[in-house]
Amino acid sequence: MEIFDVAIVGGGPAGSSCAAFCALAGLRTLVLEREKFPREKVCGDCLNPSCWPVLQRLGLAQRVRDLPHSKLASVEFIAIDGRKVVVDLPTGEWCELSVKRSLFDDLLLRRARELRAHVREGTTVTALNCSHGPVARPGRDAPQRRGYRGDWRIETATGERFSARTLVGADGRNSTVARLCNLLPRPARERVALQAHIPLPRNFGRRVVLQFLPEGYSGQAPVNETELNLCLVGTPPTISRLRRWAERYFEITSDQPWRTITPLTRSPVSCAHENLFFLGDAARVVEPFTGEGIYYAIRSGELAAIAISRTIRGEDQQATLREFARACAEMYRGRLWVNRLARAAVLSPRIASLLLRFGPLNPAIMRLMTKKIAGRAIDLNRP
Ligand SMILES: Cc1cc2nc3c(=O)[nH]c(=O)nc-3n(C[C@H](O)[C@H](O)[C@H](O)COP(=O)(O)OP(=O)(O)OC[C@H]3O[C@@H](n4cnc5c(N)ncnc54)[C@H](O)[C@@H]3O)c2cc1C
Repeated sequence: MEIFDVAIVGGGPAGSSCAAFCALAGLRTLVLEREKFPREKVCGDCLNPSCWPVLQRLGLAQRVRDLPHSKLASVEFIAIDGRKVVVDLPTGEWCELSVKRSLFDDLLLRRARELRAHVREGTTVTALNCSHGPVARPGRDAPQRRGYRGDWRIETATGERFSARTLVGADGRNSTVARLCNLLPRPARERVALQAHIPLPRNFGRRVVLQFLPEGYSGQAPVNETELNLCLVGTPPTISRLRRWAERYFEITSDQPWRTITPLTRSPVSCAHENLFFLGDAARVVEPFTGEGIYYAIRSGELAAIAISRTIRGEDQQATLREFARACAEMYRGRLWVNRLARAAVLSPRIASLLLRFGPLNPAIMRLMTKKIAGRAIDLNRP
């Protein structure tokens, strides 16, 4: 049986970007993806401008711009009483844009394939076995960090078997890899998200709308000339009221199909273990309100590929793992406080609406927060 250098479970943005960068580095790379692409995904479909440098290094920036998309000019925060704060988004080539995940994710996975990663779609990973692991590592980060020495054996739902020296969990917030390795934190099933593409209301404009509602919040963004991405986030008892609000507000019928996902929050999984990496949502789930998950996914994919190729080339594995964990922490630094603030706000939409009106969430602060998230200086050359 062929032994791959790296097997990546999940072909979403994290898995595909990791696969593409690993293949670029000359590694024998395998991607195992449960779905058959193109497929939609619960997401606001907004690409944070921080994504551009990574997409550029993947050779995809222009190909993303060539997909049907909307360029987003502003973000509009709407309080429960209807009061609005509008903040401009960056303009020009590196602007924020929205593109359907069926198109974006398919492009990324195709890129991995073009670069000679071996991609298996419709393949669900169900069992894992490491020839000499797990090994609890002594030191500061035990028991979170574990060592898995030797090769990984990976089994799928149809009984196929694969082998690899390194395993990557890029299989989303309910990661099977983390669960099979006993690393998946208990999910906080406190909230649920619904998402649909609906006909674009006339004169909607090129704005992202983030709307606080008594039952939760809604995100809206045009994704092309004819469709609006509509997301609703609430709790199990309130989500049907949110859906009825959306049916009235956007004049959609009650048989509108919705995609759904949970949890919206859970504790992170440590991203670096011996021969085992976690990327994107599998490592850390962030509040969707700030629309940054895809950036964290593709950037962590790139960072992991650098770490994996160094270890496969025989560089000091522990030092490489520490460096990877540091780089991941750096990626979130300066951004997580905004995300936490957003989370606090969306958990109490009434208080957030009052703050939006009178207090700390006034337009100046909202502008600063938006700049922090969407207006980061772009360095195309930083690997
Ligand atoms: C309501 C909502 C709105 C959001 N809006 C935005 C936004 O506007 N902008 C933004 O940047 N982020 C947004 N996000 C976050 C974003 O969707 C995620 O952060 C992003 O999808 C993470 O990418 P990923 O590759 O880590 O995981 P995923 O995109 O979840 O991909 C994981 C892949 O793994 C596959 N998989 C799972 N289990 C297995 C298995 N056992 N075997 C094989 N394959 C498997 C799945 O089929 C999937 O294709 C939003 C999230 C939510 C919930």
